[in-house]
Amino acid sequence: MTAPKIRTAVASLPGYKPGQAPTAGPDGRSWKLSSNEVHFDPLPGVLAAAEQALREMNRYPDMFATQLSETVAAFWSDQGHPIGTDQLAFGTGSSAILYDLLRLVATAGDEVVYPWRSFEAYPIAVMASGATPVPIPVRADGRHDLAGMLAAITERTRAVLVCTPNNPTGPALTATELRDFLDAIDPSVLLVLDEAYLEFATDPDVGRGEDFLDRPNVVVMRTFSKAYGLAGLRVGYAISTPEIAGSLRKIAVPFGVPQVAQAAAIASFAAVDELRQRVREVTIERDRLLAGLREIGWEVPDSQANFVWLDTGARTAEVAAPFIADGLMVRAFTNGDPFDGIRISVADAEATDRVLAIAAQVRR
Ligand SMILES: *Cc1c(COP(=O)(O)O)cnc(C)c1O
Repeated sequence: MTAPKIRTAVASLPGYKPGQAPTAGPDGRSWKLSSNEVHFDPLPGVLAAAEQALREMNRYPDMFATQLSETVAAFWSDQGHPIGTDQLAFGTGSSAILYDLLRLVATAGDEVVYPWRSFEAYPIAVMASGATPVPIPVRADGRHDLAGMLAAITERTRAVLVCTPNNPTGPALTATELRDFLDAIDPSVLLVLDEAYLEFATDPDVGRGEDFLDRPNVVVMRTFSKAYGLAGLRVGYAISTPEIAGSLRKIAVPFGVPQVAQAAAIASFAAVDELRQRVREVTIERDRLLAGLREIGWEVPDSQANFVWLDTGARTAEVAAPFIADGLMVRAFTNGDPFDGIRISVADAEATDRVLAIAAQVRR
């Protein structure tokens, strides 16, 4: 029987593998450390705002997220970066924004350069656009190989993706690296700065996309899924030129971001001090985890995010097993290639202690 022919690029795609669902350790407890979510309850006021929005579930949401746009624009202006609402575009998570960005600029025969290993969604989003993926291996220290990425740019390159801090390895680009990189790229090439974890960056040298928004080809992607704790509601945004933002709004799935997600995101900005306090707690645990791992002999890349990376290669499944058995749901990437390893999301102090205890055993 004949059936619709799925495009070859899609048929050959590796599917996105989400983090493992929690199974309990010997004491009946478990920690989901596999998807880089935060472990906190909703920020003060957020649940109430979301519940209020749910009462209008018979209505379509505000298609252009008007109030959220104004709130986000005001937030950035308060930080000293005046951003117009016409520079913003929202989507069901920044993943959706990425798919739309690539569809704006790339099609069959075009190329998209990105670091690898990096965010699992990159190869999928590139191939979904029809373009050819050009993954450039990250360096042994988990940092982007910026020279290698520059060298990979050809006249067919339509977009370059930068993940800073890089998921899953952890390091972020410095401001100098970012500036030199942007300077070296023709402004006809779209430069996507995926800053899903930038709220967790504590190193003052880390570059920030908002400082480069005067460039016509720069798009900064932000999400409410990580530091803001709204992964389940699916909302993220891009900051760019009004031209790019307007094009994103044109091709976005109509009414994509539910009102409940918009309301929760708006309410989060009223709790921004509490948000910063939570982020501080996470970064303290992250630094304790990094230091602890190094102390017991693990070589771990610097992380500016809310996770750490164990470069376990061919031993990945074997090393991950005792963590999982203890209820620590780490994320094991076991594709059988040189990029395999284990990503461990940071949670509370107890999780840190437990991860360190298992890491010490595994080492021995
Ligand atoms: C989690 C994550 C995102 C954001 O995903 P959402 O679709 O906004 O939930 C984007 N980029 C990277 C690298 C991520 O890890």
